[in-house]
Amino acid sequence: MVPKFDSSVLIKLLLLQCVAVLSAAQDFDFFYFVQQWPGSYCDTKRSCCYPTTGKPPSDFGIHGLWPNYRDGSYPSNCDPSNPYDQSKISDLISRMQENWATLSCPSNSGSTFWSHEWEKHGTCSESVLDQHGYFKAALDLKSKLDLLQILQSAGINPDGGFYSLSSIRSAIRKGIGYTPGIECNVDEEGNSQLYQIYVCVDTSGSELIECPVFPNGKCASTIEFPSF
Ligand code: AMP
Repeated sequence: MVPKFDSSVLIKLLLLQCVAVLSAAQDFDFFYFVQQWPGSYCDTKRSCCYPTTGKPPSDFGIHGLWPNYRDGSYPSNCDPSNPYDQSKISDLISRMQENWATLSCPSNSGSTFWSHEWEKHGTCSESVLDQHGYFKAALDLKSKLDLLQILQSAGINPDGGFYSLSSIRSAIRKGIGYTPGIECNVDEEGNSQLYQIYVCVDTSGSELIECPVFPNGKCASTIEFPSF
């Protein structure tokens, strides 16, 4: 005998499954992992303040790990019910001080910057990474990607010299296997300078991918790499 199904029960089950799949799905398409040259942050009219823990290393620092959409837009401030909680990342703080240094004034330990990054960006990827996972993913990406070493081996040094944007982009492409996005700012004399380097990361927060879209980097064709 053929068993009989109540079709309304079947439909409800299917709907339930759809809801479950949708709520587990990511609400963004990829991450930008953004590193910043501290010399460029400081070398502008607004200047900078070193963190209370001392002058950061002369190296790129983390700015953030930003969930983004393929069309270039991005979600922000996704979950006010999940505020930054430093007790969840106490084992990561010394790595954060070294690699994710605050440069804003007045001088502070970094928690204002980290909490801004978590609340604005991190809460939009909490379907994949909790607070500890989010900060650890960024720190692990930083240890995998030695951008300064890559640039220096191509003869591009933070010496106040000017380098072509294309030579910087090619050196990084050669070093990491993917094309980076490059963003510039303007120093006090009006020179375009290397400010931030964007690489794209899959929704797990760990694997590099080709960027689906690049930020508008506002760079001149030749840019300064200031010292720090
Ligand atoms: P976001 O809102 O994540 O796009 O980042 C922009 C904000 O981060 C601005 O308010 C910047 O002034 C701030 N910011 C960028 N770099 C740093 C840094 N190294 N230390 C502190 N604040 C920063």
